[in-house]
Amino acid sequence: TQGIRVVVLGQGGVGKTAMTVRFVTRRFICDYDPTLEAIYKHNTYIDGEQVHFEILDTAGQEDPQSPNLEEKIRWGDAFIIAYCINDQCSFDEIMRFKFLINHTKGSSAHAPEVPVMVVGNKRDLELDRMVKTSEGEKIATALGCMFIEVSAKESHEEVRTMFEKLYKKCKACQALK
Ligand code: GDP
Repeated sequence: TQGIRVVVLGQGGVGKTAMTVRFVTRRFICDYDPTLEAIYKHNTYIDGEQVHFEILDTAGQEDPQSPNLEEKIRWGDAFIIAYCINDQCSFDEIMRFKFLINHTKGSSAHAPEVPVMVVGNKRDLELDRMVKTSEGEKIATALGCMFIEVSAKESHEEVRTMFEKLYKKCKACQALK
């Protein structure tokens, strides 16, 4: 069994818990205590290999200045930086989280590559869209991250693809212990 630790970052309300719970339980559950922070454990198969996910759904740590957050980032092998497509502010926070990851995990030429995926959640809210798909792609490319849009509400497949791609990237750049 291969293990992977994923830290889910992003402004409050973007759907960090909804995406994590969707992946682990296949269900969408509407409302959670936003202050609840938890590590979700989930076993699954990816390309015939058993993978044990530990997913830290951060909460109440949205302030990238929090020293506590650095500790959590050190724990992770791979990162999701989530925003929601109907909230420009959540999109504007992406860069700060990426800089914090760089700062904490190192981003020099000698530091190992750290897999990060920028995720635009709530793709189902197309009518309220404020962030274009192309803008998401653009910032992800600029920051050296992968990119996907998902709907935790409507699609288990999309959320699963997000975690699978992150895992495959980790394997490819040997980010796992
Ligand atoms: P967190 O604070 O980032 O963990 O966000 P939550 O997972 O608690 O979600 C915040 C709110 O957004 C909740 O009311 C969710 O039901 C809602 N939500 C989460 N994901 C989606 C989605 O994909 N589509 C829609 N329409 N609502 C979502």
